[in-house]
Amino acid sequence: MDYQSILEKIRADVTPLFGQGKVATYIPALASADPYDFAMSLQLVNGESYHIGSCEKTFSIQSISKVFMYEMALSLFEASLIGRVNVEPSGNPFNSLIQLEYEKGIPRNPFINPGAIVIADMLTSHFGNNAYDTILHYFQNCSNNFSIDIDTEIASSELESGYRNYALANLMKSFGNIKNPIDDVLHTYFNACSIRANTVCLARSVLHLANQGIDPITNNTLLCGEHSKRINALMLTCGHYDASGEFAYKIGLPGKSGVGGGIVAIVPDIMSIAVYSPALNHHGNSLIGTKALELFTRYSGHTIF
Ligand code: GLN
Repeated sequence: MDYQSILEKIRADVTPLFGQGKVATYIPALASADPYDFAMSLQLVNGESYHIGSCEKTFSIQSISKVFMYEMALSLFEASLIGRVNVEPSGNPFNSLIQLEYEKGIPRNPFINPGAIVIADMLTSHFGNNAYDTILHYFQNCSNNFSIDIDTEIASSELESGYRNYALANLMKSFGNIKNPIDDVLHTYFNACSIRANTVCLARSVLHLANQGIDPITNNTLLCGEHSKRINALMLTCGHYDASGEFAYKIGLPGKSGVGGGIVAIVPDIMSIAVYSPALNHHGNSLIGTKALELFTRYSGHTIF
């Protein structure tokens, strides 16, 4: 298939959409992103890769980090996840407090903020206050790129403006579902969200999810096949918060978004995809990124359905 032509056609098709959507401003350090930026990378399991746009430009991966945190948690403490974080779609925004109150502090899934905060708590218990460093290292390993780093300016900006995340963490602590001090847990969480990567590296970082947990290029086993299946299932059902159903309906691939404007998606056995465009729709997902993925599945015919 001529993937490069498909990428060029997608870029032409999405060009009229620039100007729609809004860059996230509730984290002040994200507000300076250029809403006209666009990049898309395809990483095939056979080693080939295709790119378009500003694919070398790094951005904050934000909630895409939740995938890697949960991968680590599944490998480390599978059984103890039961009763701490569920695996059901939430049907609510990523930072909503309402459901968490009536469901007694147990988050619906690990891909919304409260779910990832519980995972950050578990990783903090296991690795101590430098847990974020271990998460960064896991991400570097997945992407086979050891120069990736955390943007400390974004992490501090999140800390200063993280009122809702503090509220979520405090609410869960009141129910006994956070074990460590709130500041320590959010330190882990905010730093993980502040990892910076470009689409080349992001696509590469989830390639193992297209190949039963094994990186097909290095042959490193990052996850067992069973866990890889579960992560893909969660990405399909919960990867886009209260727009997860719509994403599955229109794109038909497991995917995960972040408010930095990135989205990753998996075509099982064939490739992983990363797209970047920082202007978001009202669910907090990249507006043009979502459209680009929809066009990709239409032009390539790649979908799990
Ligand atoms: N760090 C962001 C937050 O906590 C992550 C949210 C997201 O990407 N949806 O609000």
